[in-house]
Amino acid sequence: MPGPGEFQIIRDYFSGAPQGEGVALGIGDDCALLQPPPGLLATSVDTLVADRHFPADANPGLIASRALRVNLSDLAAMNARPLWFTLALTLPDSNPDWLRRFADGLLQTAEAFGISLVGGDTTRGPLSITVEVIGSTHKPLRRDGAGVGHGIHVSGPLGAAAAALPVVLNEREVTESERRAAEEAYYRPQPQLSMAAALGDIASAAVDISDGLLADLGHICKASGLTAEVQMEKLPVAALAQTLAGERALQLAATGGDDYQLCFTLPPEHAEAAEKLGAVCIGTLTEGQGEVRPRLKGEPWVHPSAGFQHF
Ligand code: ADP
Ligand code: MG
Repeated sequence: MPGPGEFQIIRDYFSGAPQGEGVALGIGDDCALLQPPPGLLATSVDTLVADRHFPADANPGLIASRALRVNLSDLAAMNARPLWFTLALTLPDSNPDWLRRFADGLLQTAEAFGISLVGGDTTRGPLSITVEVIGSTHKPLRRDGAGVGHGIHVSGPLGAAAAALPVVLNEREVTESERRAAEEAYYRPQPQLSMAAALGDIASAAVDISDGLLADLGHICKASGLTAEVQMEKLPVAALAQTLAGERALQLAATGGDDYQLCFTLPPEHAEAAEKLGAVCIGTLTEGQGEVRPRLKGEPWVHPSAGFQHF
């Protein structure tokens, strides 16, 4: 029996999405109609390709969750409140069971973060998922706002997702509870929206850590024209990274991607406020031209790999 057709997929799986704030017209017409709140709109898009970003046979609910969460993380990094998103879905076939689990994972995640699905596109081809998000911000956190003497802070533990990757890719056998923890770390990263909202007024710059701390911090350094002095012993290394990667945990925390914690900079008088929120200070910005200088107990720490780049 052939699966549902394009219009049936849209109707059965996606058009029932709850309509949130500012949605004058949702799924079903040529465009959605949206009423922006005061402030600036922030928008970002990310594509997840099967067998590049996730195994093609991965749990569809988890794939959907990750697709939306990585985009929400970009909104957090900009100090934007999530409003709306669209979904461009390319499917090799129309499998009702896959679609049901994907749509449930997507819409549950959307509800949890208060963002509504307002449109998309559905086509046939190699499995790929593109999500575009739109949020609203009064105080954007750009990469170029950091200043000399500002502290460098991270919002939480690092290295878990990179340690989880070989497990998620079925390249490594682990216990059942380690597998669950690995899937949680890789597919369900926590977009740091509340941390961003709490720090929005005092932070000078921010970036989300998708390609690895040192690489992403490098973006702030280049955009702001400064050098980062990083004290490696201060990095909050995720417990899962320690369990799965042992001695390599620190390296994964510094250079592994996919954690989606925030790295932000703060004038020193606000350091205590950030610490109270659970953020960890890992270094300081000095004059320079975009370098990142990691040191372990005072000695230069040579990192084996730069951040991930597709090309
Ligand atoms: P058009 O041909 O005018 O581009 P489509 O037939 O592609 O319109 O889509 C019809 C409606 O369904 C539009 O409102 C579109 O935004 C929505 N839509 C299509 N695919 C999806 C999807 N995967 N998720 C959510 N909405 C979708
Ligand atoms: Mg279309």
